[in-house]
Amino acid sequence: MIIKDRVVNSILVYGEKGLGKKTAADYISASLLCEQKNGTPCGVCKSCRMILHKTHPDVIYAEPSGKSGNYKIDTLREIVENSTVLPNEGRYKIYIISDMDNTLVPAQNALLKLIEEPPDHCVIILTASSRSSLLPTIISRVVSLSVHEVSKDSCEKALAKYGYNIDEIKKSIDILGGNIGKCKSYLDGEEIVDAVTITKNITDALISGDEYLILKEFNELAGAKPMTLTVLNLLCEVIRDAMSYHACCDESNLISTYKNGAVRLSEHTSKAKARKIYLVVTKYIDRINSNGNLSLALNSLCSEIKETL
Ligand SMILES: [Zn+2]
Repeated sequence: MIIKDRVVNSILVYGEKGLGKKTAADYISASLLCEQKNGTPCGVCKSCRMILHKTHPDVIYAEPSGKSGNYKIDTLREIVENSTVLPNEGRYKIYIISDMDNTLVPAQNALLKLIEEPPDHCVIILTASSRSSLLPTIISRVVSLSVHEVSKDSCEKALAKYGYNIDEIKKSIDILGGNIGKCKSYLDGEEIVDAVTITKNITDALISGDEYLILKEFNELAGAKPMTLTVLNLLCEVIRDAMSYHACCDESNLISTYKNGAVRLSEHTSKAKARKIYLVVTKYIDRINSNGNLSLALNSLCSEIKETL
């Protein structure tokens, strides 16, 4: 499209966390602004280097300001107003708005105006883990590009470049599949594997409907706020997958780390119930983010989930 000078102004890159959506957004920006203009970033011109170092004045990264990492309506309105200003040096002014998933409908509507009628000099690149978290009116006006896991071999090669121990690399791929970002988090010592395990256990407990088991699994989290938030966010992905599977019975749409669990959850829980649990979990993510007492929050989260079951 760049070579043919038929650039689209609104792009959505979507897929599971860790698959390189932000990297793809930077790559597209560099392709658009590279001085060589041949559709691929040369990597050496001033423009490519500035994008690599995230200092290009015409590539603007929106900053989420909401409690759950979402975009507030004012942030997006400001972008819409700012979009009329011409680029500083490039051919385009590019807005990268990543992780749109938790952005509420009014805020998405504020952005819709820009997506519907973008000035010629503007390109808007959105990223989200799932297309279903965006308004249909936005989806119908963007070109959607999906990101996917790579093969185990490619994942291993990519990770080896960082110099990790090969046995550790293999172990990470066994647990997390060909998701380079998630494997890298694990190899960097982040708690992702524990978080994935606890999320799976909680999902299994929800499927069993056993109140004691649910309480027991949530208790595993007591005292660890970052871990709790990671698990609750992973759990949201699983529940969203369960709702998506309810709607279209298509496993290829699923994005969570526990797809099999999501399918079983959808078989054991009505769509309305899954939605209720999802809303409860997101409510408590906000509450824990805004520094509520963690054990109290986990306690009432459990009892609200029990009520919905
Ligand atoms: Zn270049």
